[in-house]
Order: sequence, then C-alpha cells, then structure tokens
Amino acid sequence: LPKVFQAAMPVLETLENAGFEAYFVGGSVRDILLKRHIHDVDIATSAYPEEVKSLFEKTIDTGIQHGTVTVLYGNESYEITTFRTESGYQDYRRPDHVTFVQNLEEDLKRRDFTINAFAMNMRGEIIDLFDGLDDLKNRVIRAVGDPEKRFNEDALRMMRAVRFMSQLKFTLEEKTEQAIVDHHELLRKISVERVRDEFVKMGIGSDSRQAFQVFLDTKLSEDVPDFEGKSELLSVYPKLKFSPTMEASFWSIIMILLKVPNNQISKIMRDWKNSNAMIDSVERIVDFFDILSDHAPTDYELFQMGKETLLNVIDVAHILGQPVESKALVDRYAALPIKKSSELTIDGRFLIKMGITPGPNLGKILEEIKKAVISGQLENDQVAIENYLN
Ligand code: ATP
Ligand code: MG
Repeated sequence: LPKVFQAAMPVLETLENAGFEAYFVGGSVRDILLKRHIHDVDIATSAYPEEVKSLFEKTIDTGIQHGTVTVLYGNESYEITTFRTESGYQDYRRPDHVTFVQNLEEDLKRRDFTINAFAMNMRGEIIDLFDGLDDLKNRVIRAVGDPEKRFNEDALRMMRAVRFMSQLKFTLEEKTEQAIVDHHELLRKISVERVRDEFVKMGIGSDSRQAFQVFLDTKLSEDVPDFEGKSELLSVYPKLKFSPTMEASFWSIIMILLKVPNNQISKIMRDWKNSNAMIDSVERIVDFFDILSDHAPTDYELFQMGKETLLNVIDVAHILGQPVESKALVDRYAALPIKKSSELTIDGRFLIKMGITPGPNLGKILEEIKKAVISGQLENDQVAIENYLN
C-alpha cells in the first residue's frame, strides 16, 4: 500500500476498534488502482460525526450537516464522512438533504461513476459493487446506476464525466454518453463556478483534446457561458498539436479559437467567474501572442511581457502549431539588462534632484531612460544616465 494509506491506517483502526465500519473511498482508491499520484484520502464510516469527533483529539467541523468531519492525524488531515444517501435534489443541483445510513452500499450508490465508487478496507480489500474494476481495466467512465437519473439528480456529473476522461485518458461508456446527449441543457442549472472548475480540470488534463471532442459532440458546450453557437470555432481544439498543461494557457487558447477581440476577453472571462488575476494573465498572454505572431518582439516588449507571460505565450504558440523561436526568446529575455523597473539605478527622485520638474514630463523621461537601458543603448549606471540627460 502507498505511504499515504499506511499513514491513514491508524485512523481506520481507531474507528474499527470503537465498533464502527470504516473504509477508504472515492478518488483515492481509484488512483491507487491506477497507480496515479494520490492527493487526498477520503474515509467513509458508519460512525456519526459526533462519534467521530469524540474518537480523535484534533478535528474540524468541515461540513458537519453533510456528515463530514476533518480529522488531523500525524501531519495529515482526513475527511471522514458518515455513510449517507442524498435526497431532495432540487433544480438538478446538489441535494438539500442528506440522510445518514448504516451501510456502505447505500453510500457507494450515491457516487457518480463506477471508478469513483470503490471502497477499500483496512486489509486492503477492494469493495466493488458496480463492476468498477472491469471499467478501470477497459478504461471507461460509466455512471453508477441509470445515467439519466443520475444526471437529472446532479447535472454537474456530466461535466465531471468529460473531466475524468481527460485526466485519466478514459473513454465514455455509450449509455452514459447518450444520457449526456439527451440532457446536456441541464448543465445550465449548475453554478458557473462549479462548471468552470470541471472545465479547467478537463482543459489541463492529459487527454483534453479527446475529452473536448466529447464536450462538443454531446453539446455540453452549448450550455456553458458564451460558447453557444460557437462549436465550429471550438472544433479546432481537438485537432491541436498538444494539450495545454497550464490553466492560463488553456483559457488563452479558448479566447484565440473563439476569435474574441482583446477588449472582450475580460467580459467572457468574467462570465466564467474567473479571478481578476486569471483575467489579467489571459489578457496579457493573448496581447503578446498577437505581437509575437506579427513580429519578433523588441527587447522592450520582452521586458513588458515578463518571464511568466513569455513562457505562457511560447506554450500557447507551441500548442497552436505556430512556429516560435522559443529558445532564442528565452535567451534574449535572460540577457535583458533589467527585468523590473525597480532595477533601474535611478528613479523619479533622482531626476528631481537633477533639476527636472515633477509632472508628466518626468514620467516620460523616466520611461525613455528605461527603454534606452533595456535596449542596451544606455548603461544602467547613474553617471551614464546623467551624462545621457545632459
Ligand atoms: P480528484 O482526484 O479530482 O479529487 P475525486 O474522485 O476525489 O477526484 P472529488 O470531487 O474529490 O473527486 O470527490 C470525491 C468523491 O466523491 C468522488 O470520487 C465521488 O465518489 C464522490 N463525488 C464527488 N462529486 C460527486 C457528484 N457530483 N456526484 C456524485 N458523487 C460525487
Ligand atoms: Mg478528491
């Protein structure tokens, strides 16, 4: 067993010794079976939240009304959730009631896909009630139970299906796919933030081009912000040379494929409820991508781009199949005399001391000096700059 599970063993043991059932569940069990990196270990138990809390020293009430308590043990934290079913799905969204149940089976039945519905006990035995092991072997995403019913309960699962296809390089089982084709419009009921999180995970997953094709084929793409009627433009995505690995690159490619004018990027990014930082990055990447597609950037343009944007722009060009001299650009960037304005040996105060009147003119002079330094015409040295100005 991987170290993360061994470290969590005493937590299961404590629950079992107190007379409760306890299992590892969800994505982590799937990921051990696939030998993928495991990031968090979830535990399901027959114990009620109050009982869980009484058994461990350090706990946090993460979502106690949903039955989840976080236990801090060793250097790790574990989400321990009481076996439950969900009911009262209103408006095709998350349930508003959870009912605690006394058996594992009920808990596993509420899970989205067969490969996410395994449980593993302390002895490392896998409980597989829905033939998830076969689906893992055949690399398919299949809904637990009747897919139509499951997508009607919670429409986000349709996005999760294409997200897992991308992350795991799996295909979509036929009936599960057909149910998405039949119900894609239910996605409109889901909050944009939740759709966006799955969309981004799909976009930077290792097989995002295949998953994106299914996102288009099932018409899920018609029910997300700003993509309605845009499937032809987006159909280029599955034919890209590579899949993006960075979120900002992914969004930039989407903006470029949609031919969004630069002054409209922030509107669309905002419709998707992206953070200001992400909106900023994407605007910068697309702006500089346009520059790079037009001409070899000047040193000053490289300076303005900065290292991070430069790497994203190179990434985007690479993915879109645009020839780009990436090594030369990175070398040129590394050779810039300054990387930040603060690295100039002079500043506004220095210019005032030299007798230049404060005001817009001073800003212009400062910018001119900066440009001259960056392009190598002027040494970044106080004496040299003074001479230059006189
Ligand atoms: P990741 O590696 O991205 O964390 P995960 O499979 O752990 O993948 P989570 O979103 O962390 O996914 O959810 C944990 C588990 O909870 C899932 O494996 C699944 O069993 C269940 N689950 C999560 N979201 C849903 C949902 N919308 N409907 C049904 N079951 C869900
Ligand atoms: Mg998880």
